[in-house]
Amino acid sequence: MSKREFDVVVLGSGFAGSLTAMILQRVGRRVALVDKTRHPRFAIGESSTPIANLVFRDLAKRYDLPRLLPLAKYGSWQEAYPHIGCGLKRGFSYFGHKSGQVFTPSLTHANELLVAASSHDRDSDTQWLRADVDQFFCSEAASLGVAVHEDCAIRELRHSGIGDWSIDCRHEGRPLTLRTSFVIDATGEAGVVPRTLGVASCVERCRTHSRAIFSHFRGVGSWHDSLNSLGGKTQDHPFHCDNAAQHHILDGAWLWMLRFNNGLTSAGLVVDETQYPLDPSVDVSTEWNQWLARYPSVAAMFAEAELAETPGKLIRTPRLQRRWSKLAGEDWALLPHAAGFVDPLHSGGIAHSLCGVERLVQILDRQWQANTRAEALHAYGVTIERELDLIDELVASCFATFGQFDLLVVATMLYFAAATTYERVRCEGGSSLAFLCADRTEIRNLLQTACTAISQQTAAASASQDRIEQIRRHVASLIAPINHVGLLDATLANMYRHTVVPM
Ligand SMILES: Cc1cc2nc3c(=O)[nH]c(=O)nc-3n(C[C@H](O)[C@H](O)[C@H](O)COP(=O)(O)OP(=O)(O)OC[C@H]3O[C@@H](n4cnc5c(N)ncnc54)[C@H](O)[C@@H]3O)c2cc1C
Repeated sequence: MSKREFDVVVLGSGFAGSLTAMILQRVGRRVALVDKTRHPRFAIGESSTPIANLVFRDLAKRYDLPRLLPLAKYGSWQEAYPHIGCGLKRGFSYFGHKSGQVFTPSLTHANELLVAASSHDRDSDTQWLRADVDQFFCSEAASLGVAVHEDCAIRELRHSGIGDWSIDCRHEGRPLTLRTSFVIDATGEAGVVPRTLGVASCVERCRTHSRAIFSHFRGVGSWHDSLNSLGGKTQDHPFHCDNAAQHHILDGAWLWMLRFNNGLTSAGLVVDETQYPLDPSVDVSTEWNQWLARYPSVAAMFAEAELAETPGKLIRTPRLQRRWSKLAGEDWALLPHAAGFVDPLHSGGIAHSLCGVERLVQILDRQWQANTRAEALHAYGVTIERELDLIDELVASCFATFGQFDLLVVATMLYFAAATTYERVRCEGGSSLAFLCADRTEIRNLLQTACTAISQQTAAASASQDRIEQIRRHVASLIAPINHVGLLDATLANMYRHTVVPM
Protein backbone atom coordinates (compact mmCIF):
# COMPACT_ATOMS: atom_id res chain seq x y z
CA MET A 1 0.00 0.00 0.00
CA SER A 2 1.30 3.46 -0.95
CA LYS A 3 0.86 6.38 1.54
CA ARG A 4 1.12 10.06 0.69
CA GLU A 5 0.79 13.21 2.83
CA PHE A 6 -0.77 16.55 1.82
CA ASP A 7 -1.93 19.82 3.37
CA VAL A 8 -5.16 19.77 1.39
CA VAL A 9 -6.99 17.05 -0.52
CA VAL A 10 -9.65 18.26 -2.93
CA LEU A 11 -12.26 15.62 -3.75
CA GLY A 12 -13.72 16.09 -7.25
CA SER A 13 -11.82 17.45 -10.27
CA GLY A 14 -14.60 19.38 -12.00
CA PHE A 15 -13.57 22.93 -12.95
CA ALA A 16 -14.24 24.17 -9.42
CA GLY A 17 -12.24 21.48 -7.63
CA SER A 18 -9.38 21.72 -10.13
CA LEU A 19 -9.23 25.51 -9.89
CA THR A 20 -9.25 25.39 -6.09
CA ALA A 21 -6.43 22.84 -6.15
CA MET A 22 -4.40 24.97 -8.59
CA ILE A 23 -4.73 28.13 -6.50
CA LEU A 24 -3.89 26.42 -3.21
CA GLN A 25 -0.83 24.83 -4.80
CA ARG A 26 0.15 28.28 -6.07
CA VAL A 27 -0.01 29.78 -2.56
CA GLY A 28 2.22 27.09 -1.15
CA ARG A 29 -0.03 24.30 0.08
CA ARG A 30 0.79 20.70 -0.92
CA VAL A 31 -2.37 19.62 -2.71
CA ALA A 32 -3.87 16.38 -4.02
CA LEU A 33 -6.88 16.22 -6.34
CA VAL A 34 -8.96 13.05 -6.43
CA ASP A 35 -11.69 12.07 -8.88
CA LYS A 36 -13.52 8.80 -9.30
CA THR A 37 -13.67 9.30 -13.07
CA ARG A 38 -11.10 10.15 -15.74
CA HIS A 39 -11.17 13.18 -18.04
CA PRO A 40 -12.64 13.79 -20.54
CA ARG A 41 -16.06 12.96 -19.14
CA PHE A 42 -19.55 14.40 -19.67
CA ALA A 43 -20.68 17.06 -17.20
CA ILE A 44 -23.62 19.43 -17.09
CA GLY A 45 -23.57 23.12 -16.02
CA GLU A 46 -22.20 24.92 -19.04
CA SER A 47 -23.28 28.54 -19.25
CA SER A 48 -21.03 31.26 -17.86
CA THR A 49 -22.21 34.76 -16.93
CA PRO A 50 -20.65 38.20 -16.43
CA ILE A 51 -20.19 37.47 -12.71
CA ALA A 52 -18.46 34.17 -13.51
CA ASN A 53 -16.12 35.91 -15.92
CA LEU A 54 -15.29 38.76 -13.54
CA VAL A 55 -14.41 36.39 -10.70
CA PHE A 56 -12.57 34.02 -13.00
CA ARG A 57 -10.48 36.83 -14.51
CA ASP A 58 -9.59 38.16 -11.06
CA LEU A 59 -8.61 34.72 -9.75
CA ALA A 60 -6.41 34.06 -12.79
CA LYS A 61 -4.64 37.42 -12.31
CA ARG A 62 -4.41 37.35 -8.51
CA TYR A 63 -2.95 33.85 -8.36
CA ASP A 64 -0.74 34.14 -11.44
CA LEU A 65 -2.54 31.66 -13.67
CA PRO A 66 -1.98 33.34 -17.07
CA ARG A 67 -2.83 30.21 -19.04
CA LEU A 68 -6.39 30.33 -17.67
CA LEU A 69 -6.98 34.02 -18.35
CA PRO A 70 -8.05 33.69 -22.03
CA LEU A 71 -11.08 31.65 -20.94
CA ALA A 72 -12.59 34.74 -19.28
CA LYS A 73 -13.89 36.10 -22.63
CA TYR A 74 -15.11 34.54 -25.84
CA GLY A 75 -12.63 36.35 -28.12
CA SER A 76 -9.48 35.53 -26.17
CA TRP A 77 -10.71 31.95 -25.67
CA GLN A 78 -11.11 31.48 -29.42
CA GLU A 79 -7.65 32.91 -30.09
CA ALA A 80 -5.83 30.91 -27.44
CA TYR A 81 -7.72 27.63 -27.23
CA PRO A 82 -9.94 27.06 -30.29
CA HIS A 83 -9.80 23.29 -29.60
CA ILE A 84 -11.52 23.64 -26.18
CA GLY A 85 -15.27 23.30 -26.81
CA CYS A 86 -17.04 26.62 -26.43
CA GLY A 87 -20.13 28.53 -27.50
CA LEU A 88 -20.82 32.24 -27.87
CA LYS A 89 -23.10 33.64 -25.19
CA ARG A 90 -24.18 37.24 -25.69
CA GLY A 91 -26.87 37.17 -23.04
CA PHE A 92 -30.07 35.58 -21.80
CA SER A 93 -33.16 34.97 -23.91
CA TYR A 94 -36.61 33.88 -22.72
CA PHE A 95 -39.64 32.89 -24.82
CA GLY A 96 -43.11 32.12 -23.46
CA HIS A 97 -44.96 29.23 -25.13
CA LYS A 98 -48.55 28.07 -24.75
CA SER A 99 -49.43 24.40 -24.63
CA GLY A 100 -50.86 23.08 -27.89
CA GLN A 101 -50.13 26.31 -29.78
CA VAL A 102 -47.52 27.39 -32.30
CA PHE A 103 -45.47 30.27 -30.87
CA THR A 104 -47.03 33.53 -32.01
CA PRO A 105 -44.64 36.49 -31.87
CA SER A 106 -46.18 39.79 -30.87
CA LEU A 107 -45.25 43.20 -32.26
CA THR A 108 -44.47 44.39 -28.73
CA HIS A 109 -42.36 41.29 -27.90
CA ALA A 110 -44.81 40.48 -25.11
CA ASN A 111 -43.75 36.81 -25.06
CA GLU A 112 -40.02 37.47 -25.51
CA LEU A 113 -37.34 38.80 -23.18
CA LEU A 114 -33.73 39.40 -24.15
CA VAL A 115 -31.13 40.67 -21.70
CA ALA A 116 -27.72 41.45 -23.17
CA ALA A 117 -24.70 40.52 -21.10
CA SER A 118 -22.05 41.90 -23.42
CA SER A 119 -21.75 44.45 -26.21
CA HIS A 120 -19.49 42.51 -28.61
CA ASP A 121 -18.73 38.91 -29.42
CA ARG A 122 -15.09 39.27 -28.39
CA ASP A 123 -15.98 40.39 -24.82
CA SER A 124 -18.85 38.03 -24.41
CA ASP A 125 -19.61 35.17 -22.05
CA THR A 126 -19.23 31.58 -23.11
CA GLN A 127 -20.88 28.18 -23.04
CA TRP A 128 -18.37 25.73 -21.58
CA LEU A 129 -18.20 22.27 -23.11
CA ARG A 130 -17.45 20.81 -19.73
CA ALA A 131 -15.78 17.62 -20.94
CA ASP A 132 -13.09 19.78 -22.60
CA VAL A 133 -12.96 22.60 -20.05
CA ASP A 134 -12.72 20.34 -17.00
CA GLN A 135 -10.03 18.25 -18.68
CA PHE A 136 -8.04 21.43 -19.37
CA PHE A 137 -8.39 22.65 -15.77
CA CYS A 138 -7.38 19.27 -14.37
CA SER A 139 -4.33 19.00 -16.62
CA GLU A 140 -3.32 22.57 -15.68
CA ALA A 141 -3.53 21.56 -12.01
CA ALA A 142 -1.20 18.64 -12.71
CA SER A 143 1.27 20.93 -14.54
CA LEU A 144 1.35 23.23 -11.51
CA GLY A 145 2.37 20.35 -9.27
CA VAL A 146 -0.97 19.23 -7.84
CA ALA A 147 -0.92 15.46 -7.27
CA VAL A 148 -3.81 14.47 -9.52
CA HIS A 149 -5.45 11.09 -8.97
CA GLU A 150 -8.04 10.30 -11.63
CA ASP A 151 -9.89 7.00 -11.73
CA CYS A 152 -9.51 6.97 -7.96
CA ALA A 153 -12.36 5.37 -6.00
CA ILE A 154 -12.61 6.43 -2.37
CA ARG A 155 -13.06 3.33 -0.19
CA GLU A 156 -13.03 5.04 3.18
CA LEU A 157 -12.72 8.61 4.39
CA ARG A 158 -11.61 8.66 8.07
CA HIS A 159 -11.66 11.75 10.27
CA SER A 160 -9.72 10.83 13.41
CA GLY A 161 -9.51 14.33 14.91
CA ILE A 162 -9.10 17.97 13.87
CA GLY A 163 -6.51 18.11 11.09
CA ASP A 164 -6.25 14.35 10.81
CA TRP A 165 -7.88 12.82 7.74
CA SER A 166 -6.97 9.63 5.93
CA ILE A 167 -8.50 8.63 2.66
CA ASP A 168 -8.24 5.02 1.54
CA CYS A 169 -8.62 4.77 -2.22
CA ARG A 170 -8.21 2.38 -5.06
CA HIS A 171 -6.21 4.28 -7.67
CA GLU A 172 -5.89 2.69 -11.10
CA GLY A 173 -6.49 -0.67 -9.49
CA ARG A 174 -3.96 -0.27 -6.62
CA PRO A 175 -4.57 0.60 -2.95
CA LEU A 176 -3.52 4.11 -1.95
CA THR A 177 -3.90 6.09 1.29
CA LEU A 178 -3.81 9.87 1.28
CA ARG A 179 -3.29 11.68 4.59
CA THR A 180 -4.17 15.33 4.93
CA SER A 181 -5.01 18.03 7.42
CA PHE A 182 -7.80 19.62 5.33
CA VAL A 183 -10.43 18.23 2.96
CA ILE A 184 -12.37 20.22 0.38
CA ASP A 185 -15.44 18.54 -1.06
CA ALA A 186 -15.92 19.46 -4.74
CA THR A 187 -17.88 16.31 -5.61
CA GLY A 188 -21.11 18.19 -6.35
CA GLU A 189 -24.20 16.11 -5.78
CA ALA A 190 -22.15 13.14 -4.50
CA GLY A 191 -21.50 15.11 -1.27
CA VAL A 192 -18.80 12.70 -0.10
CA VAL A 193 -17.81 14.66 3.04
CA PRO A 194 -21.26 15.50 4.43
CA ARG A 195 -22.37 11.92 3.90
CA THR A 196 -19.25 10.61 5.67
CA LEU A 197 -19.65 13.02 8.58
CA GLY A 198 -23.39 12.32 8.86
CA VAL A 199 -24.38 15.94 8.18
CA ALA A 200 -28.17 16.23 7.93
CA SER A 201 -29.91 17.35 4.75
CA CYS A 202 -31.99 20.53 5.00
CA VAL A 203 -33.53 20.38 1.55
CA GLU A 204 -36.89 21.21 3.12
CA ARG A 205 -35.61 24.83 3.23
CA CYS A 206 -35.94 24.98 -0.58
CA ARG A 207 -39.16 26.40 -2.00
CA THR A 208 -38.17 25.37 -5.55
CA HIS A 209 -39.17 21.82 -6.40
CA SER A 210 -37.95 20.77 -9.83
CA ARG A 211 -36.43 17.86 -11.72
CA ALA A 212 -34.68 17.68 -15.09
CA ILE A 213 -34.29 15.70 -18.31
CA PHE A 214 -31.29 16.66 -20.43
CA SER A 215 -28.66 15.63 -22.94
CA HIS A 216 -26.46 16.86 -25.77
CA PHE A 217 -27.87 16.82 -29.30
CA ARG A 218 -26.72 17.31 -32.86
CA GLY A 219 -28.86 18.86 -35.58
CA VAL A 220 -31.04 21.09 -33.38
CA GLY A 221 -32.68 23.82 -35.46
CA SER A 222 -32.17 27.53 -34.91
CA TRP A 223 -34.79 29.32 -32.80
CA HIS A 224 -33.79 32.62 -34.41
CA ASP A 225 -34.69 31.16 -37.83
CA SER A 226 -37.94 29.65 -36.52
CA LEU A 227 -38.90 32.98 -35.02
CA ASN A 228 -38.24 34.76 -38.31
CA SER A 229 -40.36 32.27 -40.21
CA LEU A 230 -43.16 32.79 -37.69
CA GLY A 231 -43.05 36.55 -38.35
CA GLY A 232 -40.98 37.54 -35.31
CA LYS A 233 -39.13 40.86 -35.37
CA THR A 234 -35.66 39.51 -34.63
CA GLN A 235 -34.17 42.74 -35.96
CA ASP A 236 -35.25 44.31 -32.64
CA HIS A 237 -33.20 41.79 -30.67
CA PRO A 238 -30.11 43.23 -29.00
CA PHE A 239 -28.19 40.09 -30.04
CA HIS A 240 -28.76 36.87 -31.99
CA CYS A 241 -31.15 35.05 -29.69
CA ASP A 242 -29.47 31.64 -30.25
CA ASN A 243 -26.17 33.01 -28.87
CA ALA A 244 -27.59 32.94 -25.41
CA ALA A 245 -28.67 30.91 -22.47
CA GLN A 246 -31.99 30.33 -24.18
CA HIS A 247 -34.97 29.69 -21.91
CA HIS A 248 -38.23 28.38 -23.39
CA ILE A 249 -40.90 28.88 -20.76
CA LEU A 250 -43.65 26.26 -20.81
CA ASP A 251 -46.61 25.67 -18.49
CA GLY A 252 -45.04 24.11 -15.38
CA ALA A 253 -41.59 23.66 -16.95
CA TRP A 254 -38.80 25.41 -18.85
CA LEU A 255 -36.32 24.22 -21.43
CA TRP A 256 -32.71 25.39 -21.71
CA MET A 257 -30.78 25.45 -24.98
CA LEU A 258 -27.07 26.23 -25.14
CA ARG A 259 -25.29 26.06 -28.48
CA PHE A 260 -21.63 25.19 -28.98
CA ASN A 261 -19.44 26.08 -31.97
CA ASN A 262 -18.96 22.44 -32.91
CA GLY A 263 -22.62 21.75 -33.73
CA LEU A 264 -23.54 20.36 -30.32
CA THR A 265 -26.50 21.76 -28.41
CA SER A 266 -27.09 21.20 -24.71
CA ALA A 267 -30.83 21.01 -24.09
CA GLY A 268 -32.67 20.24 -20.90
CA LEU A 269 -36.19 20.32 -19.63
CA VAL A 270 -36.70 21.42 -16.03
CA VAL A 271 -40.10 20.39 -14.72
CA ASP A 272 -42.01 21.75 -11.73
CA GLU A 273 -42.28 18.53 -9.75
CA THR A 274 -45.16 19.75 -7.63
CA GLN A 275 -47.26 19.78 -10.82
CA TYR A 276 -45.60 16.92 -12.69
CA PRO A 277 -44.16 14.35 -10.27
CA LEU A 278 -41.77 11.85 -11.79
CA ASP A 279 -43.66 8.77 -12.96
CA PRO A 280 -41.11 5.93 -13.21
CA SER A 281 -43.55 3.88 -15.30
CA VAL A 282 -43.11 6.42 -18.15
CA ASP A 283 -39.67 5.98 -19.68
CA VAL A 284 -37.50 9.04 -20.14
CA SER A 285 -37.73 9.18 -23.98
CA THR A 286 -41.51 8.94 -23.84
CA GLU A 287 -41.69 11.73 -21.28
CA TRP A 288 -39.31 13.95 -23.29
CA ASN A 289 -41.33 13.39 -26.49
CA GLN A 290 -44.61 14.03 -24.67
CA TRP A 291 -43.35 17.42 -23.51
CA LEU A 292 -42.13 18.36 -27.00
CA ALA A 293 -45.41 17.24 -28.56
CA ARG A 294 -47.27 19.79 -26.41
CA TYR A 295 -45.17 22.68 -27.76
CA PRO A 296 -45.09 22.51 -31.57
CA SER A 297 -42.58 25.34 -32.06
CA VAL A 298 -40.15 23.75 -29.61
CA ALA A 299 -40.69 20.33 -31.19
CA ALA A 300 -39.92 21.79 -34.63
CA MET A 301 -36.37 22.63 -33.49
CA PHE A 302 -35.84 18.96 -32.61
CA ALA A 303 -37.36 17.59 -35.83
CA GLU A 304 -33.95 16.66 -37.28
CA ALA A 305 -32.08 16.37 -33.98
CA GLU A 306 -30.37 13.27 -32.67
CA LEU A 307 -28.65 12.48 -29.42
CA ALA A 308 -24.94 13.27 -29.47
CA GLU A 309 -22.46 10.42 -29.05
CA THR A 310 -21.72 11.69 -25.51
CA PRO A 311 -23.62 11.11 -23.28
CA GLY A 312 -25.64 9.29 -25.95
CA LYS A 313 -28.83 9.15 -23.90
CA LEU A 314 -31.38 11.32 -22.11
CA ILE A 315 -30.59 11.73 -18.42
CA ARG A 316 -33.50 12.11 -16.02
CA THR A 317 -32.86 13.35 -12.49
CA PRO A 318 -34.92 13.11 -9.33
CA ARG A 319 -35.54 16.40 -7.48
CA LEU A 320 -32.67 18.78 -8.32
CA GLN A 321 -32.68 20.65 -5.02
CA ARG A 322 -30.32 19.50 -2.30
CA ARG A 323 -28.86 21.22 0.75
CA TRP A 324 -26.65 20.19 3.65
CA SER A 325 -27.15 21.73 7.09
CA LYS A 326 -23.42 22.25 7.79
CA LEU A 327 -21.17 23.51 5.01
CA ALA A 328 -17.76 23.84 6.67
CA GLY A 329 -15.92 22.70 9.79
CA GLU A 330 -12.52 23.50 11.29
CA ASP A 331 -10.70 21.28 8.80
CA TRP A 332 -13.12 20.81 5.93
CA ALA A 333 -15.30 22.82 3.57
CA LEU A 334 -17.80 22.16 0.80
CA LEU A 335 -17.62 24.09 -2.46
CA PRO A 336 -20.98 25.62 -3.41
CA HIS A 337 -22.11 22.84 -5.76
CA ALA A 338 -21.40 20.25 -3.05
CA ALA A 339 -23.11 22.43 -0.43
CA GLY A 340 -26.38 22.55 -2.34
CA PHE A 341 -28.13 23.26 -5.59
CA VAL A 342 -31.37 24.96 -6.57
CA ASP A 343 -32.07 25.03 -10.32
CA PRO A 344 -30.27 26.01 -13.54
CA LEU A 345 -32.72 28.89 -14.29
CA HIS A 346 -30.66 32.01 -15.21
CA SER A 347 -27.44 29.90 -15.23
CA GLY A 348 -26.05 30.93 -11.85
CA GLY A 349 -24.14 27.74 -11.03
CA ILE A 350 -20.68 28.45 -12.47
CA ALA A 351 -20.68 31.97 -11.04
CA HIS A 352 -21.85 30.73 -7.65
CA SER A 353 -19.11 28.09 -7.62
CA LEU A 354 -16.43 30.64 -8.52
CA CYS A 355 -17.58 33.05 -5.80
CA GLY A 356 -17.21 30.22 -3.27
CA VAL A 357 -13.78 29.23 -4.61
CA GLU A 358 -12.63 32.85 -4.31
CA ARG A 359 -13.63 33.14 -0.65
CA LEU A 360 -12.37 29.71 0.38
CA VAL A 361 -8.90 29.99 -1.17
CA GLN A 362 -8.50 33.40 0.43
CA ILE A 363 -9.11 31.88 3.86
CA LEU A 364 -6.77 28.95 3.23
CA ASP A 365 -4.11 31.30 1.86
CA ARG A 366 -4.18 34.07 4.45
CA GLN A 367 -5.41 32.24 7.55
CA TRP A 368 -3.96 28.75 7.08
CA GLN A 369 -2.15 28.80 10.45
CA ALA A 370 -4.19 31.58 12.06
CA ASN A 371 -6.43 31.01 15.07
CA THR A 372 -9.13 32.96 13.20
CA ARG A 373 -9.38 30.23 10.54
CA ALA A 374 -12.22 28.26 12.14
CA GLU A 375 -14.30 31.41 12.51
CA ALA A 376 -13.61 32.40 8.90
CA LEU A 377 -14.64 28.95 7.70
CA HIS A 378 -17.84 29.17 9.70
CA ALA A 379 -18.60 32.52 8.04
CA TYR A 380 -17.81 30.94 4.64
CA GLY A 381 -20.52 28.32 5.30
CA VAL A 382 -23.06 30.90 6.48
CA THR A 383 -22.51 32.94 3.31
CA ILE A 384 -23.19 29.93 1.08
CA GLU A 385 -26.41 29.32 3.03
CA ARG A 386 -27.48 32.91 2.34
CA GLU A 387 -26.58 32.54 -1.33
CA LEU A 388 -28.62 29.35 -1.66
CA ASP A 389 -31.56 30.94 0.19
CA LEU A 390 -31.51 33.93 -2.14
CA ILE A 391 -31.15 31.85 -5.32
CA ASP A 392 -34.05 29.69 -4.14
CA GLU A 393 -36.24 32.72 -3.43
CA LEU A 394 -35.55 34.24 -6.86
CA VAL A 395 -36.01 30.97 -8.76
CA ALA A 396 -39.17 29.92 -6.89
CA SER A 397 -40.74 33.31 -7.68
CA CYS A 398 -40.07 32.71 -11.37
CA PHE A 399 -41.51 29.18 -11.30
CA ALA A 400 -44.69 30.57 -9.74
CA THR A 401 -45.15 32.84 -12.78
CA PHE A 402 -44.85 30.15 -15.47
CA GLY A 403 -47.94 30.53 -17.66
CA GLN A 404 -48.02 34.35 -17.23
CA PHE A 405 -45.04 35.55 -19.22
CA ASP A 406 -45.38 39.24 -18.36
CA LEU A 407 -45.23 38.36 -14.66
CA LEU A 408 -42.22 36.10 -15.33
CA VAL A 409 -40.48 39.13 -16.84
CA VAL A 410 -41.02 41.03 -13.58
CA ALA A 411 -39.75 38.09 -11.49
CA THR A 412 -36.73 37.58 -13.75
CA MET A 413 -35.71 41.22 -13.34
CA LEU A 414 -35.10 40.59 -9.63
CA TYR A 415 -32.31 38.18 -10.57
CA PHE A 416 -30.81 40.71 -12.99
CA ALA A 417 -31.08 43.49 -10.40
CA ALA A 418 -29.03 41.36 -7.99
CA ALA A 419 -26.56 40.21 -10.66
CA THR A 420 -25.92 43.66 -12.10
CA THR A 421 -25.54 45.10 -8.60
CA TYR A 422 -22.90 42.47 -7.87
CA GLU A 423 -21.09 43.39 -11.12
CA ARG A 424 -21.22 47.07 -10.28
CA VAL A 425 -19.97 46.66 -6.70
CA ARG A 426 -17.18 44.39 -7.89
CA CYS A 427 -16.10 46.76 -10.64
CA GLU A 428 -16.01 49.58 -8.09
CA GLY A 429 -13.37 47.64 -6.20
CA GLY A 430 -15.30 45.06 -4.17
CA SER A 431 -13.88 41.55 -4.12
CA SER A 432 -14.71 38.26 -2.42
CA LEU A 433 -18.36 39.30 -2.48
CA ALA A 434 -21.17 36.85 -1.91
CA PHE A 435 -22.87 35.72 -5.11
CA LEU A 436 -25.69 38.17 -5.95
CA CYS A 437 -24.65 40.26 -2.90
CA ALA A 438 -26.48 37.71 -0.75
CA ASP A 439 -24.47 38.81 2.30
CA ARG A 440 -25.90 42.34 2.18
CA THR A 441 -28.96 42.43 4.40
CA GLU A 442 -30.54 45.49 2.78
CA ILE A 443 -30.34 43.90 -0.70
CA ARG A 444 -31.66 40.56 0.54
CA ASN A 445 -34.58 42.22 2.31
CA LEU A 446 -35.51 44.31 -0.67
CA LEU A 447 -35.48 41.31 -3.02
CA GLN A 448 -37.40 39.25 -0.49
CA THR A 449 -40.13 41.90 -0.30
CA ALA A 450 -40.36 42.00 -4.10
CA CYS A 451 -40.54 38.19 -4.31
CA THR A 452 -43.34 38.19 -1.73
CA ALA A 453 -45.27 40.76 -3.78
CA ILE A 454 -45.02 38.51 -6.83
CA SER A 455 -45.87 35.34 -4.91
CA GLN A 456 -48.96 36.93 -3.39
CA GLN A 457 -50.22 37.65 -6.88
CA THR A 458 -49.40 34.21 -8.28
CA ALA A 459 -51.12 32.54 -5.34
CA ALA A 460 -54.30 34.37 -6.38
CA ALA A 461 -56.06 33.90 -9.71
CA SER A 462 -54.24 34.78 -12.91
CA ALA A 463 -53.66 38.51 -13.07
CA SER A 464 -55.28 41.04 -15.41
CA GLN A 465 -53.05 43.33 -17.51
CA ASP A 466 -53.86 46.23 -15.18
CA ARG A 467 -52.87 44.19 -12.14
CA ILE A 468 -49.60 43.09 -13.76
CA GLU A 469 -48.81 46.70 -14.57
CA GLN A 470 -49.45 47.61 -10.92
CA ILE A 471 -47.08 44.86 -9.79
CA ARG A 472 -44.44 45.94 -12.30
CA ARG A 473 -44.55 49.49 -10.95
CA HIS A 474 -44.53 48.30 -7.35
CA VAL A 475 -41.56 45.96 -7.91
CA ALA A 476 -39.74 48.67 -9.92
CA SER A 477 -40.09 51.06 -6.99
CA LEU A 478 -38.91 48.39 -4.53
CA ILE A 479 -35.76 47.58 -6.50
CA ALA A 480 -34.99 51.19 -7.46
CA PRO A 481 -32.00 51.39 -5.05
CA ILE A 482 -30.31 48.47 -6.85
CA ASN A 483 -31.62 49.09 -10.35
CA HIS A 484 -28.76 50.86 -12.11
CA VAL A 485 -29.40 49.56 -15.62
CA GLY A 486 -33.02 50.47 -16.33
CA LEU A 487 -34.64 47.12 -15.55
CA LEU A 488 -38.46 47.01 -15.70
CA ASP A 489 -38.54 49.96 -18.10
CA ALA A 490 -41.85 49.47 -19.93
CA THR A 491 -40.62 51.50 -22.92
CA LEU A 492 -37.93 48.93 -23.76
CA ALA A 493 -40.42 46.23 -24.87
CA ASN A 494 -38.43 43.49 -23.06
CA MET A 495 -35.26 44.17 -25.08
CA TYR A 496 -32.43 45.07 -22.71
CA ARG A 497 -29.26 46.18 -24.51
CA HIS A 498 -27.40 48.02 -21.81
CA THR A 499 -26.96 45.97 -18.65
CA VAL A 500 -23.27 45.49 -19.22
CA VAL A 501 -20.47 46.52 -16.87
CA PRO A 502 -17.21 46.91 -18.86
CA MET A 503 -14.62 44.31 -17.85
C1 LIG B 1 -29.25 20.00 -14.59
C2 LIG B 1 -28.24 21.07 -14.26
C3 LIG B 1 -28.02 22.13 -15.15
C4 LIG B 1 -27.10 23.13 -14.85
N1 LIG B 1 -26.92 24.17 -15.72
C5 LIG B 1 -26.08 25.18 -15.41
C6 LIG B 1 -25.85 26.28 -16.30
O1 LIG B 1 -26.43 26.38 -17.38
N2 LIG B 1 -24.98 27.23 -15.94
C7 LIG B 1 -24.31 27.17 -14.76
O2 LIG B 1 -23.54 28.09 -14.45
N3 LIG B 1 -24.46 26.13 -13.91
C8 LIG B 1 -25.33 25.14 -14.20
N4 LIG B 1 -25.47 24.10 -13.34
C9 LIG B 1 -24.64 24.06 -12.13
C10 LIG B 1 -23.28 23.47 -12.46
O3 LIG B 1 -23.46 22.14 -12.86
C11 LIG B 1 -22.34 23.51 -11.26
O4 LIG B 1 -22.23 24.84 -10.81
C12 LIG B 1 -20.97 23.00 -11.61
O5 LIG B 1 -21.03 21.73 -12.21
C13 LIG B 1 -20.12 22.90 -10.37
O6 LIG B 1 -18.86 22.39 -10.72
P1 LIG B 1 -18.03 21.51 -9.71
O7 LIG B 1 -16.69 21.36 -10.31
O8 LIG B 1 -18.14 22.11 -8.34
O9 LIG B 1 -18.81 20.14 -9.55
P2 LIG B 1 -19.19 19.02 -10.61
O10 LIG B 1 -19.20 19.55 -11.97
O11 LIG B 1 -20.44 18.40 -10.09
O12 LIG B 1 -17.99 17.96 -10.51
C14 LIG B 1 -17.93 17.03 -9.48
C15 LIG B 1 -16.76 16.11 -9.72
O13 LIG B 1 -16.68 15.22 -8.59
C16 LIG B 1 -16.42 13.92 -9.06
N5 LIG B 1 -16.93 12.96 -8.07
C17 LIG B 1 -18.20 12.61 -7.81
N6 LIG B 1 -18.25 11.68 -6.84
C18 LIG B 1 -16.98 11.45 -6.46
C19 LIG B 1 -16.38 10.59 -5.52
N7 LIG B 1 -17.11 9.77 -4.77
N8 LIG B 1 -15.04 10.60 -5.40
C20 LIG B 1 -14.27 11.41 -6.17
N9 LIG B 1 -14.79 12.24 -7.10
C21 LIG B 1 -16.13 12.26 -7.24
C22 LIG B 1 -17.15 13.84 -10.38
O14 LIG B 1 -16.61 12.82 -11.20
C23 LIG B 1 -16.90 15.24 -10.96
O15 LIG B 1 -15.70 15.29 -11.71
C24 LIG B 1 -26.38 23.07 -13.63
C25 LIG B 1 -26.58 22.00 -12.77
C26 LIG B 1 -27.50 21.02 -13.06
C27 LIG B 1 -27.70 19.89 -12.08
